[in-house]
Amino acid sequence: MEVINEIKFSMPSLSVNESTARAVVSSFLIQADPTIEELSDIRTAVSEAVTNAVVHAYRGTKGKIELTVKLLAGREIYIRVKDRGCGIKDVEQAMEPLFTTAPEEERSGLGFSVMESFMDKLTVKSVPEKGTTVVMRKRLRANEK
Ligand code: ATP
Ligand code: MG
Repeated sequence: MEVINEIKFSMPSLSVNESTARAVVSSFLIQADPTIEELSDIRTAVSEAVTNAVVHAYRGTKGKIELTVKLLAGREIYIRVKDRGCGIKDVEQAMEPLFTTAPEEERSGLGFSVMESFMDKLTVKSVPEKGTTVVMRKRLRANEK
């Protein structure tokens, strides 16, 4: 993958940083001139991944969330959200629509489904007690300008 530009930063697992992550990703993506809809889809997907790290990975504790955003050749966007939290025992099950381990908290179990439908590709790697890494990619439509 040919990287044209890239940012990487880390933040503590505070819920306020869900919007920090959205804002940083938006600012970075402006150079790729995405449509409003593409930008909105990517912002939502990032938000879901960061929220999961805050509410599930570091439940009741605090830790670091690392966000990497890359602009690749061919107007492809690469996003990685990494935590060193509790990890996921069964990733396949976690990714099923409506599966949640927190139904009592108004969680609907749709975060991964949203990431999957708003992005072109989603990969989740997780090791219990070690943490979770979510990688998402999306190719922006051809720029007609
Ligand atoms: P919603 O996103 O709709 O509010 P949810 O977070 O439960 O609900 P998903 O985002 O699809 O739904 O995640 C499904 C399940 O996967 C979670 O309930 C949780 O058990 C687990 N999970 C997701 N991300 C992580 C993570 N970073 N660390 C640990 N567990 C996670
Ligand atoms: Mg979620």
